Amino acid sequence: MDADEVEIRPVISGGQPRGKGGGPAKCKRCREPAKVEVARANAAFCADCFLRYVRNQVTKAIDEHSMFAEADRLLVCVSGGKDSLALWDMLMEMGYDTTGFHIVLWTGEEYAAESRDMCERFAQARGAKLVVRDLKADEGFTVEQIAREGRRVPCSVCGLTKRYLTNLAASQGGYDVLVTGHNLDDEAATLLGNALHWQTEYIARQMPALPSTHAKLVKKVKPLYRVSERETAAYSIIRGIDYIVEECPLVAGNTQLRYKDALNSLERLSPGTKQQFLFGYLDKAAPLFAGSDPVTLRECNECGQPTTGETCAYCRAKKQLRAKARPPVEFTEVAP
Ligand code: SF4
Ligand code: ZN
Repeated sequence: MDADEVEIRPVISGGQPRGKGGGPAKCKRCREPAKVEVARANAAFCADCFLRYVRNQVTKAIDEHSMFAEADRLLVCVSGGKDSLALWDMLMEMGYDTTGFHIVLWTGEEYAAESRDMCERFAQARGAKLVVRDLKADEGFTVEQIAREGRRVPCSVCGLTKRYLTNLAASQGGYDVLVTGHNLDDEAATLLGNALHWQTEYIARQMPALPSTHAKLVKKVKPLYRVSERETAAYSIIRGIDYIVEECPLVAGNTQLRYKDALNSLERLSPGTKQQFLFGYLDKAAPLFAGSDPVTLRECNECGQPTTGETCAYCRAKKQLRAKARPPVEFTEVAP
């Protein structure tokens, strides 16, 4: 394992990492005082070498999976959180042609306003282009409303909405690639969930780069899949990126959290577990699942977006929400 292959435990709360003899640790690469502890390799990095480490992981992901080229126009999905903003920052630093895309999902009033604000301030400070879609204004429903009325599982509607609207924006905007900020922890947790239920068609699709298989389906990539959640937090802090620290108010209903907790417990006992699980799948098992998802796409008869059936899941969900929102039919009593 080389110095760039190790997991990093960021020293977010301050304090100097300690070396073997109890004295201040030195950066493994340049021997300057270390700022970020690298637990798994019993090493540490200074701030600059840590940023270099993270960027190397992202470059490796982009190259290994031929995610995009210099000339490509990238639509980067940003939530206002550390992962997506750190990724946008890195891609801009690397010189890629990026546009940010934020959806106001309304999972909570304050949370929505703050998330949007983080994205707008980030873009403004860098003179970057940001496109914002507002679910309430554009689609007439909010994820919070769905959660409150118990009409559908909020995270499932939220996920479906994000997938649909991000692809639509990328496709209509003529972007070459849709970029998301899923990190190593997200991907390992998703893989665990899919493996526990043996959802082979989902497992087959869990690749860092998904090619376009339809004229209206934009290529999707996850350049942060080699970078852990702690690493993106440390990266954002060192780079001075302001991000929303609070979790989504509806996160309690997210099943992925349970899988993350389970993996975190394993990681504490056996550092490197998440990486071994995910990278091992990509290296050894992914080819075995290839072809488990033989779908033929056609256009939705309502919205024209790519789907496997006659009507896409998004149009069906919207129809269902509208139907349940209708007031009960009133019968007029007719006197005998
Ligand atoms: Fe959407 Fe659920 Fe994530 Fe909140 S926790 S943003 S509702 S998927
Ligand atoms: Zn549709």
